[in-house]
Amino acid sequence: MSSQTLQKTGNIYVVATPIGNLGDMSPRAVETLQSVDLILAEDTRHSKPLLQHFQIQTKCQAFHEHNEKEISEGLCQRVLQGESIAIISDAGVPLVSDPGFPLVRLAHQYKIPVLSVPGACAAISALSVSGLPTDRFSFEGFLPSKRSARQRVLNELVKESRTMVFYEAPRRLIDTLEDMQSIFGSERRVVLARELTKLFETVRNAPVSELLDFVKSDENQRKGECVLLLEGAVLEDLDASSVESKELLRILLDELPVKQSVSIAVKITGMNKNRLYQEALELKEN
Ligand code: SAM
Repeated sequence: MSSQTLQKTGNIYVVATPIGNLGDMSPRAVETLQSVDLILAEDTRHSKPLLQHFQIQTKCQAFHEHNEKEISEGLCQRVLQGESIAIISDAGVPLVSDPGFPLVRLAHQYKIPVLSVPGACAAISALSVSGLPTDRFSFEGFLPSKRSARQRVLNELVKESRTMVFYEAPRRLIDTLEDMQSIFGSERRVVLARELTKLFETVRNAPVSELLDFVKSDENQRKGECVLLLEGAVLEDLDASSVESKELLRILLDELPVKQSVSIAVKITGMNKNRLYQEALELKEN
């Protein structure tokens, strides 16, 4: 047997760190980070105070979207030769809107054990306190920052019946809520979960129009970190409103061009313009 086959493979640990409150750092996370050979951190300067606080002296290397693809192969080779490595991000669970995916995928190809050291995740924490259904949900990550692209993504979610979870930058909060209002209607419930586990933690569950007023009237609500959660569509309502809007469009299209029919239908139903336009085109084709 060659010495290589006797070599015991190390592990890769995916370690969650707090999303604000240091009390959420688990003893197992501390032990793991103290015992591995190398910590991969999204931003070493950001993680330094956390590591110092918990007396973790392990060597730390930067690991982010700009270098993770090129260094993953070398890292896997080190683990195959017996070293153990931990991945951490700036906050929460690595790989959830954070770096780490290329390395974990490659590790599976090499059959390297990838072990979880769980902890706080902003999406799951927000969901659990949101007051929206938690039995089925869809994690949508960050919406595009450009309005047209954001609206396109939101339009694709019109029929989504599960609770939707978004990460959002506070400076885009008003724009995103305005888009949600125009696409899903002002009555659809939205939850703003801000500064979770921190001093100014706020969780507000309200129809989108009300939440928009709340955020506009208090600039503090546009600071810090936030998760937005959107109530899923009630499919019977969608079907009913869709049947009614189709009927209305059919009558209008008998008398008027598409553009004018859609514009009148939007005014009457308050429904999304793009959606009605799409329906009108389908009716015209048929
Ligand atoms: N991996 C992290 C996790 O497990 O939650 C998320 C990383 S992502 C780059 C950062 C985003 O998570 C923020 O922009 C914000 O949307 C959300 N977030 C992080 N900490 C938060 C907190 N304490 N309260 C609310 N949202 C938070």
